[in-house]
Amino acid sequence: MTFRPTPQVPSSDVSSYHSLGVRRVINAAGRYTALGGSVMPPVVLQAMADAAGYHVDIEELQIAAGRRLAELTRNEAAHVTVGAAAGLVLSVLAATTGTDPVRIRSMAEGRLERPQVIVQRSHHMQYVPAIRLAGAEIIGAGNVLNTDPADIAGAITEDTVAVLHVAGAHLSRGSLPLDAVVRVAADYGVPVIVDAAAQLPPVENLWNFTAVRGADIAVFSGGKDLRGPQASGLIVGRADLVTAARLHGSPNQRLGRALKTGKEEIMGLVAAVERYMSLDHEARAKQWERIVDEWRGPLSLLPSVTAERDDLNEAGQPVPRLIIHWVGGPSAEELIAELADGDPRLAVAYVGQRSIGLTPDTVADDEVAPISEIISRHFLNGSGARA
Ligand SMILES: *Cc1c(COP(=O)(O)O)cnc(C)c1O
Repeated sequence: MTFRPTPQVPSSDVSSYHSLGVRRVINAAGRYTALGGSVMPPVVLQAMADAAGYHVDIEELQIAAGRRLAELTRNEAAHVTVGAAAGLVLSVLAATTGTDPVRIRSMAEGRLERPQVIVQRSHHMQYVPAIRLAGAEIIGAGNVLNTDPADIAGAITEDTVAVLHVAGAHLSRGSLPLDAVVRVAADYGVPVIVDAAAQLPPVENLWNFTAVRGADIAVFSGGKDLRGPQASGLIVGRADLVTAARLHGSPNQRLGRALKTGKEEIMGLVAAVERYMSLDHEARAKQWERIVDEWRGPLSLLPSVTAERDDLNEAGQPVPRLIIHWVGGPSAEELIAELADGDPRLAVAYVGQRSIGLTPDTVADDEVAPISEIISRHFLNGSGARA
């Protein structure tokens, strides 16, 4: 069986989605789950299609795929999960029980003590509740702006099983950096789990948090820049913890059984990481600059509009984007709603009251020009800003 890649034409009519009355979206907003994350390249689609055609022993596949992914990402061990958020759940479970089969079973039966996971208050964000799903309590450290090493040390108790560290250049400058967190946690023998879900690029982050900077586990999204299956994620790091994470999950009838990764996601993610390692990342960065420039030209000529390049995207990654500000006219919410309802539908990111962002990395070549045309049209004819 061969899959045809999604035709990249700026039309709202795409085959099977259309049959349900669902229209495709041109995505200049970013790799958001609510917009389907990212699209898979043909090599990933093909790996999933091949995997779907045969039965295999899932544990054997998980272990073999984990070994390959560990090699590719220069880590001691790796495991495929059903998304980075699921990876956080399994990692916290792993830190709670280790590989002890009795403790893993006790956890599944709700008989274990209540574990605690420390999170800097400046790191509290929408994925932190994954800790609770793993049966653990979230213990805040520091305040919303700052954390000192003593804040982490002071939050550690005998029930502490891990520190969850959120990676990203967009977080508060006063957050305690990973290296300092690793030092304090190591003094108390507490593992550090890094939520690195959106921290690709740069590709080096696949080994940077763990093998280089000493965190015990890092968790990545398979469905963001890796362009693997949308429902996939990657846990990398310390072999005993990665094994424990696997033992908590499907096909084992344990607490993580609900977070089932299929053979298709496993093979799709292996193909995606192999592809990612062989990409010319410099060429990609140049391509993004070209797209941002191509947008900036016509959009900066619009009346009452300024268009400027930004170094970092909303997840703090080194992916440039174009920020558009305007004076008067619709609010950003109104413009975003109009664009989302247009034909074709266009998704852009909210930046501020009269400011939106366009990201180049989710956009196909033949969508670049239509995007600036659609936006220009809104400002010139629609309810856009007027001088
Ligand atoms: C996207 C994201 C997640 C969730 O990743 P999924 O693969 O969608 O489960 C978790 N944490 C952060 C910081 C993210 O950006």
